[in-house]
Amino acid sequence: MEIFKKVGEGARTISEGAKSIGKKSSGLVEVAKLKFEIGKLEKERENNFTALGRLVYMQFKGEQGLEEEMERLINSTRALEGEIAGFEAQIDKLYPKSPVCPKCNTELPASAKYCSECGNKVEQDNPIE
Ligand SMILES: [Zn+2]
Repeated sequence: MEIFKKVGEGARTISEGAKSIGKKSSGLVEVAKLKFEIGKLEKERENNFTALGRLVYMQFKGEQGLEEEMERLINSTRALEGEIAGFEAQIDKLYPKSPVCPKCNTELPASAKYCSECGNKVEQDNPIE
């Protein structure tokens, strides 16, 4: 059961890292850190998937009493996905995506109301306040 222990420890380290990052400086450094954290969380999620796959296989072979561990891993994966979404939202806040013309896919300035290439009216997905 060594692998399950490792997964649990990893998850704990990640959430501590996630807490400390929120307090630090803004801008590009912040985005780089957020992306780094997302990468770590995604790796952790992959580890969970691997462990879950192993449990499914063990259960298939007839091993009993794995449900609790599976549930723990599923909840942990859900939590990781929530954290990833939170970090992605933070990145979007720091650097809102440029609007793109729905007709010709030209990238436009955030304030654009009409496409500079084809003149199409631009609907803003994330209007900047
Ligand atoms: Zn256009």
